[in-house]
Amino acid sequence: MAQVRLAGIGKTYPDGTSAVSALDLDIAEGEFLVLVGPSGCGKTTALRMIAGLEEITSGTLTIGDRTVNRTPARDRDVAMVFQSYALYPHLSVRDNIAFGLQLRKLPKREIKQRVEAAAETLGLTEHLDRRPRNLSGGQRQRVAMGRAIVRQPQAFLMDEPLSNLDAKLRVQMRAEISRIQRDLGVTTVYVTHDQVEAMTLGDRVAVLKKGVLQQVAAPQELYNHPANLFVAGFIGSPSMNLLQARIEADGPGARLDLGGHTLAVPAELLAERPRLREYLGRDIAVGIRPEDMDDAELGHEDPGAVLTSTTDLVEALGAELLVHFRLPAPPVVTEDTKELARDAGADQVDAATPDSDVIARFSPRSQAR
Ligand code: ATP
Repeated sequence: MAQVRLAGIGKTYPDGTSAVSALDLDIAEGEFLVLVGPSGCGKTTALRMIAGLEEITSGTLTIGDRTVNRTPARDRDVAMVFQSYALYPHLSVRDNIAFGLQLRKLPKREIKQRVEAAAETLGLTEHLDRRPRNLSGGQRQRVAMGRAIVRQPQAFLMDEPLSNLDAKLRVQMRAEISRIQRDLGVTTVYVTHDQVEAMTLGDRVAVLKKGVLQQVAAPQELYNHPANLFVAGFIGSPSMNLLQARIEADGPGARLDLGGHTLAVPAELLAERPRLREYLGRDIAVGIRPEDMDDAELGHEDPGAVLTSTTDLVEALGAELLVHFRLPAPPVVTEDTKELARDAGADQVDAATPDSDVIARFSPRSQAR
């Protein structure tokens, strides 16, 4: 295993499409790093550049202590697991797993040993003589993993390896990938568009948007301290409610005006977050996680922290209730707001919709109390 370092990595395709811009990432030895972002944000391109399947336009890529910009894929000592598994249909599971080792002309005994050890780790021992078409989706996925494992590479590169599996199997394999990666301690770069997968698998998660890195941090850090509005809205399901508001001084504290609704900002909170003072008298985006709301009828002590609206829709998901309601936001987007959005690295304040759908997440038990 090795450290993988991307310094100012960029990719412009021959047709002029800029897929990745000045990407800096330091992936530690043994780390599980997830690249996440919406479709087309450049995550596959970034992974393929690390793999050597795509030429790097600018920047420096280091694996271990070697700069590998110009090193062919086969000499980079990394193993890629594709979304499609890329198995050979005419070969048995054993030969599929052994393929890379046979190419490298390793002694037969060693190949046998490594294949059987990988099959054991992956629960494939009894399927070694089958063809891929006689395996379930999850088993095929394991064979693809097996092929990566036996190579004992410096790094695993995985491109949406779970996306062809049904929801239940995906959760099962997700846990398995996590376990195997931890056991083997191999540096791993994993691409997904699924933020739940990113949050559960990654030691750290790198969020990309339009080829530009927005934030790289541990999952909980991303969740609690998103660097900008894009990350705030992307991480979390259901998404954080983003509302346009104005913050005004009010005695020793402040108040948030949300289009006719007012929330009190206690003086202690202003003292705790001194940056808030810089925004007094300006339009801001307010983010409220669905789970941070409570039903006021259950007797919230602070009347300054109540929003009143009528319920649009209630979704009962068993362990939780999602309650949708609408809050009208202030109608104007001022220059202040645009400036704020630029500061935050966003194109626009997504919250600036005149009528916002807000979601609250309650536990049915607290409802019943
Ligand atoms: P997805 O989740 O949909 O696979 P992604 O985040 O992996 O998306 P990429 O496949 O890396 O995104 O694509 C990034 C951008 O580069 C997109 O705008 C895409 O259209 C473009 N792109 C990808 N491959 C090529 C190519 N060979 N030539 C030109 N543009 C390309």
